[in-house]
Amino acid sequence: MSGSNGIAIGSVLVLDKKKRKVQPKKIKSDTILSHLKRYAKSKEKFLNELDDLTENLDNKTASILETQKHIASDIEIEKRVNTSIEVDQYSVDFAIYKVFNEFIERLKESGSELFQQRIIDIENIRDRLIDLSCEDEQKLEIEKGAILIVKEISPTDLVTFYEKGVKALVMDKGGVTSHAAIIAQSLNLPCIVSAKEAVNTASSSKHAILDATNGELILDPEKQTLDKFKKEIRRLQKETKTKDILKKPSFTKDGIEFHLRANIEFTQELNLAKEFGAEGIGLLRTEALLYGGITKKSEAEQDKFYEEILSQTEGPVVIRLFDVGGDKLNFHTPDEDNPFLGWRGIRMLLDEEEMFRGQLRSILKVAGKYPGQVKILVPMISMVEEIRLVKEKIAQLKSDLVNEKLTVDDSIPLGIMIEVPSAALLADHLAKEVDFFSIGTNDLTQYTLAVDRGNEQICTLYQQNHPSVLKLIKMTYKAAKENKIEISVCGELAGDEIGAACLLGMGITDLSMSPSHLPKVKELLINRSFEDLSRFSKAVLSCSTTAEIKHLYNNWD
Ligand code: PEP
Ligand code: MG
Repeated sequence: MSGSNGIAIGSVLVLDKKKRKVQPKKIKSDTILSHLKRYAKSKEKFLNELDDLTENLDNKTASILETQKHIASDIEIEKRVNTSIEVDQYSVDFAIYKVFNEFIERLKESGSELFQQRIIDIENIRDRLIDLSCEDEQKLEIEKGAILIVKEISPTDLVTFYEKGVKALVMDKGGVTSHAAIIAQSLNLPCIVSAKEAVNTASSSKHAILDATNGELILDPEKQTLDKFKKEIRRLQKETKTKDILKKPSFTKDGIEFHLRANIEFTQELNLAKEFGAEGIGLLRTEALLYGGITKKSEAEQDKFYEEILSQTEGPVVIRLFDVGGDKLNFHTPDEDNPFLGWRGIRMLLDEEEMFRGQLRSILKVAGKYPGQVKILVPMISMVEEIRLVKEKIAQLKSDLVNEKLTVDDSIPLGIMIEVPSAALLADHLAKEVDFFSIGTNDLTQYTLAVDRGNEQICTLYQQNHPSVLKLIKMTYKAAKENKIEISVCGELAGDEIGAACLLGMGITDLSMSPSHLPKVKELLINRSFEDLSRFSKAVLSCSTTAEIKHLYNNWD
């Protein structure tokens, strides 16, 4: 299934992290010292990582990390690993593996329930130490233009690979609005998701063609096929270059103005947003500031990130507060049975006082330097009480900053994501609390249809254009208009042709999307009249299935 359209030809880079095989490997005497050093270094790095994490954590999580530290620095384990390297002459990775496994076996034999629960932690420590001890050895050679094939990947890792030259992505898991697919669209990387067995099937291939638009991965293609796709790539490149649509003003044929903005998360995405004519950033995701699994950014680093975005953007920048949880995991995220229904977005922010205040401080400071440009967006609001609490906290913080003699933009607009059905249903009440709504159709679809947005098994049921989702959007739009607040859509539906036509037809003139979708959406909207779009939207809203809606669109003249 296509996660981001386009065609790529390149070498195959399969990454199967989970398949690490640690095998008994003997080393030569003259390398013993270097293996001992690698073990010592991996331990030091691991303990530093844990130290970094322990700051700003609640007591329960901090105490879990504290236990991890004790295990990692256990003298008995250290002695045994060293002996295994020095005396048995095992390589550092196998020495760690062996000693930790012996430890795990002892715990298993003890039969204690408490110890059993610890086993998974110990396995994690073992694997992290092995990773760190082999880090230098494993520096991947990445050929420019490689097609990366993975089971799944975090957005930060994807951006890192992109910077190293990866030009396309195939993921065994995930759906079209899973986080990595959104980033792929934004970076203009052809991508297919839900590829199921690609990691296995491609493991011995050298080259491939990825026709992401048609959801096809062709491994080790023949010359004839290769030539055909090369020609197609040249044709597409020419087509994009000659597009003058981007220079045209954003008005429908009958003169209704609309605004197309970009959804981004990384500074690397700014170029494409600019190139494709985005009028500012309609959604700045900020979770990457917390990813990396281990790293977290200080307030100064956050300041730098927002400053970098604002200094390079003309037009509004809607900064969304950390939406951690669900598929956007980080070190704060606990194990939960239902992470998408769990401690996510505003729920976590209201509990994690320091994280919340740190981010708000940073945003308010930068907003002071760019008056009128920044808006704050709160994710995952499902109840009115939540936004009231947020407002209290912002007011308190503003007065703290004023006392510290910092410049604060006092009129900074505050908005909420409408991405949970309860928020759409309560939109008339919520509209009285905030300055604007931004509809997050990715989650709204997931929660309305009860379909996990990243689960490849049920991805055909994930339908952003479903009549039930569109009805909730219409209801939200009505509440916003009646209460005279601004409304925009920042979910992927805005970047879908049927979706964009229907949204504008409803009257939503502010649409934000992955930069790569901007040209096609603009082309569609400037070639239609508002009257025409309204009629289409009305017809869509009376449909009972997504298939009917698609049929309407395909037969629209
Ligand atoms: C959404 O849910 O539509 C949205 C824009 O947010 P995210 O995809 O980051 O959850
Ligand atoms: Mg969302």
